Amino acid sequence: MHLESEQDVILSELAAKYLPKLLETYKKRDYPFNTAATLMNMVTHTPYFIRFCQQPEGEKLAALHTHRLATQGFHRDHLNEDNVGETCQFLSSLLVTIGSTTVDQKDKEALLPTLKEWRKRYRGEFAKETIGRCIDQLSHKGASGLGMMFLEPMMKAQLEKGVEICKSAKCSVSAKSIGHELMQCSRCKCVRYCCIEHQRADWPEHKRLCFQPNF
Ligand SMILES: [Zn+2]
Ligand SMILES: [Zn+2]
Repeated sequence: MHLESEQDVILSELAAKYLPKLLETYKKRDYPFNTAATLMNMVTHTPYFIRFCQQPEGEKLAALHTHRLATQGFHRDHLNEDNVGETCQFLSSLLVTIGSTTVDQKDKEALLPTLKEWRKRYRGEFAKETIGRCIDQLSHKGASGLGMMFLEPMMKAQLEKGVEICKSAKCSVSAKSIGHELMQCSRCKCVRYCCIEHQRADWPEHKRLCFQPNF
């Protein structure tokens, strides 16, 4: 097994079993850079995270993280650049997965100047890219270049493969295109298929990542 897919197996199990606990831990801290946020940030690409974000508790995460970043007065502090990059990556993923409509307008307005300050201060590739993405997403502009307007729906589509679109590799059938919900895997309750044949065909691939979620 490749290292990368081994990591995916571990992260899928982590997401399925620990997301509610990680959110609880995140809420107990008042600083946005913490272990719970780091671990949640590592599982944002899994269908378990999408499922979690569709539930009342998880749906609050985008507003919560934005509020936390907006109210800390970070523009004054010199922070570890990797932490800044990571926390913006997490925020950006939350804004893609949950959308920015749940976020308080006041927090958006308060955070934007901090992000712009960070963009000037942190020049490394990773931080620069994730900070820029957050600015675009919070201000609804394609400000960092032509790509952004297209990138976001693409990222979203990638995240939604197996959630709103049949997970089978070559299939593009979606709930929308057939006018009713896709069938979901009864164990993980996360990935979806258009038909039993496609589910069976994908099982050898999916079974390693299929865990029963505790939420
Ligand atoms: Zn499954
Ligand atoms: Zn299909």
